[in-house]
Amino acid sequence: MNIPMSHENELLRETVRAFFNEHVLPHEETVDRLGEVPEEIGRDIEAKAKELGLYAANLPESVGGGGLNHTQMSIIEREFGRTSHALHSWVARPTELLLACQGDQVEKYLLPCATGEKRELFGLTEPEAGSDAMGMKSNAKRDGDDWILNGMKHFISAPTMADFAIVFAATGVDETKRGPRKRVTAFLVDRDMPGVTFREGNKCVSNRGYKTYELIFDDVRLAPDQVLGEEGRGFELAGQWLGMGRIWVGATCCGKAERLMEMAADWAATRKQFGQPIGSFQATGFRLADMAIGLRSADLMVWDAVRRADAGHLKDEDAAMVKVYCSEMLCKVADDTVQIFGGMGLMEEMPVQRLWRDSRIERIWDGTSEIQRHIVTRSILRPLGA
Ligand SMILES: Cc1cc2nc3c(=O)[nH]c(=O)nc-3n(C[C@H](O)[C@H](O)[C@H](O)COP(=O)(O)OP(=O)(O)OC[C@H]3O[C@@H](n4cnc5c(N)ncnc54)[C@H](O)[C@@H]3O)c2cc1C
Repeated sequence: MNIPMSHENELLRETVRAFFNEHVLPHEETVDRLGEVPEEIGRDIEAKAKELGLYAANLPESVGGGGLNHTQMSIIEREFGRTSHALHSWVARPTELLLACQGDQVEKYLLPCATGEKRELFGLTEPEAGSDAMGMKSNAKRDGDDWILNGMKHFISAPTMADFAIVFAATGVDETKRGPRKRVTAFLVDRDMPGVTFREGNKCVSNRGYKTYELIFDDVRLAPDQVLGEEGRGFELAGQWLGMGRIWVGATCCGKAERLMEMAADWAATRKQFGQPIGSFQATGFRLADMAIGLRSADLMVWDAVRRADAGHLKDEDAAMVKVYCSEMLCKVADDTVQIFGGMGLMEEMPVQRLWRDSRIERIWDGTSEIQRHIVTRSILRPLGA
């Protein structure tokens, strides 16, 4: 770790590392080979995480969560990043959007997610609306006080079948100074409601065993108390928390890059060609040096971002910069590690190829690198009126 830590935070890091070494890492290979996490393994990780207080550590203690601050969460996410998200995600970090629950929603959705009785999905992406989330076709129309929801979501991910989804749907159009803009509302939609189908979707080669689901809504009648937050303010609600999600991506990328770099350094020091360790060739040594420089810079960016978040000053562009930099740093480290391993780097028996595959998703989910660069560009040009 490149960042100096308090004694308390170092203890937290050691606890998470020990937990992962004992209960998670031994399952990595099996999960990748099977393409899924056997239920008993997932439930065991979940139970052990609860015993240690790592489950829902991001939610406030007042709702049954661990009450950790952003700095502490970044330490956990960095450690979790060393392994596959398929296993990591059994230790739930429920979306903080649930903190917008009000009235009966608190008992029905927020509290059970903090204890692990329920799992949620974050349902934004659609087959024809990925980066362009505003292109969504899912819509909800008024019927008296109720809403009738129609549409489809895909790539909605979770370690296992969830109980409900936070679903974003168009509920009208607003006139803005930039022209008409879809009004988007967030709804809490239970899996067992009439007209709702949650089914397993495409299988991803990054983090094999981490599932994506398709959600289908066919004339689903929603009561007024199924609106999360304010009607028409779904994007604003999501926007409050999407930034932190991007910081967690950054932290996990640092953890994975650190593990890859350890493997690369070990191989470079022990694999011999032309009578010498391959690390003594400058072409290999400089790759290791660049990994160390990239990782330190990425760690510092995450550290800076969590401090901004803890102080309540995190901006969209801060989070976007972290996501781009850390995910691209990781992909470079993963690719260079394969190169240092030579042919062995691509053999199924070696963990390098798996970590290389697992790394690739980080530049895509939670908003692609291109979309993050748009956010950074906007922050530069908007103040200039462009
Ligand atoms: C494993 C997995 C899990 C996921 N989990 C969830 C989830 O739980 N919930 C959820 O809602 N979504 C989830 N997603 C969806 C994810 O956020 C999207 O895949 C991502 O936002 C990109 O959308 P897309 O795949 O449709 O790509 P597209 O939007 O079709 O983009 C394709 C390419 O075009 C580029 N592009 C698009 N627009 C622009 C532009 N304006 N300028 C420059 N380049 C552009 C993109 O950067 C990309 O390179 C998940 C995806 C995966 C693969």
